[in-house]
Amino acid sequence: MARIFAVANQKGGVGKTTTTVNLSAALAAHGQRVLLVDLDPQGNATMGSGVDKRSLPASVYHLLVGLNTLAEVRARSEAGGYDVLPSNRDLAGAEVEMVDLDNRENRLRDALRAVDDEYDFVLVDCPPSLSMLTLNGLCAAHGVIIPMQCEYYALEGLSDLVNTIKQVHAKLNRDLKIIGLLRVMFDPRSTLSQQVSAQLESHFGDKVFKAVIPRNVRLAEAPSHGLPGVVFDKAAKGSQAYLAFAAEMIERIKTI
Ligand code: ADP
Ligand code: MG
Repeated sequence: MARIFAVANQKGGVGKTTTTVNLSAALAAHGQRVLLVDLDPQGNATMGSGVDKRSLPASVYHLLVGLNTLAEVRARSEAGGYDVLPSNRDLAGAEVEMVDLDNRENRLRDALRAVDDEYDFVLVDCPPSLSMLTLNGLCAAHGVIIPMQCEYYALEGLSDLVNTIKQVHAKLNRDLKIIGLLRVMFDPRSTLSQQVSAQLESHFGDKVFKAVIPRNVRLAEAPSHGLPGVVFDKAAKGSQAYLAFAAEMIERIKTI
């Protein structure tokens, strides 16, 4: 049975896409069967996986509104070693079109049922909002991975996200839980980073992943080559951190 995780945070630029792409590639490198679902109309996870969002025969939009099957939409990240349900700007219209559809918050969950036994992990890259698309990600998922930068305002936004997750858990998806908070773009020399990091640990305990992703320019450079960072430069500190995070996830799912 596939374990489905939404990578979510309603803030933009906090490392959701970088985490989804690199965790996918790192899990694949650890021998796991992985499907990445790009739920952001920006299509950054698609491009960062080496799939050209400008020339898709069909995208996750077509899947969500029922125009194409999952098999027709699915692409392959050859470099990353995982499959992709790609996205592009078509998906921006899905929000409005889905209003009229039955069971609109469960479109992704229902579509993923068809491939449940083909993957060990399904990772959903959510857009920077608490929209119908993110809701589809949360309704499909067993758990949420929340990437966070250790800065002052990070904690403020977190309570909105935690409340949304609680509501989805109460009303729509009893399986949903926060798997963990992932500290990303971490700068160990910054006192504020260390303070916020310590605060996270005291508030959330073992919901804070042990792996910490440092700020690392190689991770930022990789997408322009159409490669996950862990493939582009496996030895880089950021890549090694994502490989360690993947190992931690493989251990963690044994307990959930
Ligand atoms: P989101 O998907 O939450 O909007 P991204 O993953 O696109 O965030 O990251 C935002 C920006 O930060 C991107 O330019 C990305 O390359 C860069 N970035 C993300 N993680 C790191 C990191 N650990 N080190 C350096 N740059 C990073
Ligand atoms: Mg993103």
